[in-house]
Amino acid sequence: MVNSADNSSPSIDLRCDHCGRPHGQMLRCLPDGRWLSPDNGWIDANGDQASWPDVVDYARLRHSRAVVGLYRQSAAARMAAEVSHRLCRRCHLVTGREEHRRVARLRALTRFALGDLFDGTYAV
Ligand SMILES: [Zn+2]
Repeated sequence: MVNSADNSSPSIDLRCDHCGRPHGQMLRCLPDGRWLSPDNGWIDANGDQASWPDVVDYARLRHSRAVVGLYRQSAAARMAAEVSHRLCRRCHLVTGREEHRRVARLRALTRFALGDLFDGTYAV
């Protein structure tokens, strides 16, 4: 359940557009993305009702504060329309995985190119 004493939630009700986690709430979360809603039971990573975890899954439970932020969509989706989503940190990382990999690859190639420019070619 939600720890109301540790709750610093804002007055407005911000929720993740993908999984429905409420902003600022301390939640019980499982590694597979399930989280315990204060009123609806367990919710899966897509925001649907989920089954209760067994003892083995529940042993891996952790407490996490949901932080919902405003993120833009990937570059391909941005070309079509400038749309922003309210996502929690987990959903931001999961839904933007391909974009993050693309940016990380470009940064690594940029570093190699700068090294080639000033120090000679790399022997990879
Ligand atoms: Zn989410």
